[in-house]
Amino acid sequence: MAIVDWNAVEEQHSSGAYLKRDIQIVRGVGARLFDEAGRSYIDCVGGQGSANLGHAHPAIVEAITRQAGELMVCPELFHNPVRARYQAELCRVSGFPRVFLCNSGAEANEGALKIARLKSGRRGVIAAMRGFHGRTMGALSATWEKAYREPFLPLIDGVVHVPYNHIDKLREALTDQIGAVLLEVVQGEGGVHPAQAGYLQAAQELCRANGTLLIIDEVQTGWGRTGTLFAHWQDGIQPDIVTTAKSMAGGLPMGAILLSERIGALDPATHGSTFGGNPLACAAGLAALEVYTEKFHHRGTEDTENTEQDEGLIERVKRLGEEARAHLAAHVPEKAAREVRGRGFMFGIELRGKVAPVLKALQERGVLALPAGPSVLRLLPPLVITDEDLWQAIQIIEETLNDVF
Ligand SMILES: *Cc1c(COP(=O)(O)O)cnc(C)c1O
Repeated sequence: MAIVDWNAVEEQHSSGAYLKRDIQIVRGVGARLFDEAGRSYIDCVGGQGSANLGHAHPAIVEAITRQAGELMVCPELFHNPVRARYQAELCRVSGFPRVFLCNSGAEANEGALKIARLKSGRRGVIAAMRGFHGRTMGALSATWEKAYREPFLPLIDGVVHVPYNHIDKLREALTDQIGAVLLEVVQGEGGVHPAQAGYLQAAQELCRANGTLLIIDEVQTGWGRTGTLFAHWQDGIQPDIVTTAKSMAGGLPMGAILLSERIGALDPATHGSTFGGNPLACAAGLAALEVYTEKFHHRGTEDTENTEQDEGLIERVKRLGEEARAHLAAHVPEKAAREVRGRGFMFGIELRGKVAPVLKALQERGVLALPAGPSVLRLLPPLVITDEDLWQAIQIIEETLNDVF
């Protein structure tokens, strides 16, 4: 029997747009991933934020399997009861009266920027330095990173970038041409920088006073990642629009644009998507919502030991996230790191050197992690990670940083 080198096959035929690590992931359960040789890794990549419910979560598997045999596609020119139930639930838990469903984070931001133009009648947009909003032309226009933008100039005009967490700079940039301000609650790709207390509230006040719409990008921070279902709940704001995607359907591709009362309904035919609101994604989204909002049973993991009897999945993220961050701050050696940042299970460790050798060493020791820029180590473990795996990963990270630096 011939042995096929699938890694080589993939290198030969895929676009080349991604630099891949030299392992092959074939299976996952909870916060564990397995390579082709059966070696197990603790997953702190978390599908880049799309695996908040871990891998092969039984509630998601069951919902997808059931719906796949019923109806997968149903464009929004027809009504569909699965979509209706999902939209109603999503609106109920998020507090937004309406939602436009799409398929990814970039697409959600793209739509939000279009809606902002329609509803404000203005073309200008303010986004933040270090901000990331996706790779399509509109979302890329709001994204800060030069390497992502420069090969594609000119992008859409009218987008201004201001320093994040500097309210005076936002005030100075807000003119009567600005239709929308687009901000993350914790800048993810840009290095895991959380909004400082009061920043988003002040931004909201400025926007309201200026007739400008506030769009909050919760693509990475949503779905329990930061210790509340949506991160902006912690900042006491009511954005005009919230965009979300990544983990909203438990790992199936899905995105959404949440529309406040102030935005209201869209006029027919002003926006659309063939796959948006498909019943398969809606069934997965509905199952995911149930898991996010119900008490935590360690479902989807092999671990059965529970921490506190009636602690919810996301409450646990808040408590354990703070404990783990405090541990990292106290134990990551001075010589390796400048700062430990984040909220909930969104961790950023600002290193004193490059992150690439750290990622490689961690992989060799059985922990998969992410960068956020050249010198920040980012961890996005599934929310369902067991206590044991989380603390083991933290310990391996502390040891590895001590060894590499
Ligand atoms: C990942 C991400 C996006 C883009 O989402 P895609 O689904 O990859 O298009 C947009 N905004 C933020 C904050 C993200 O983290």
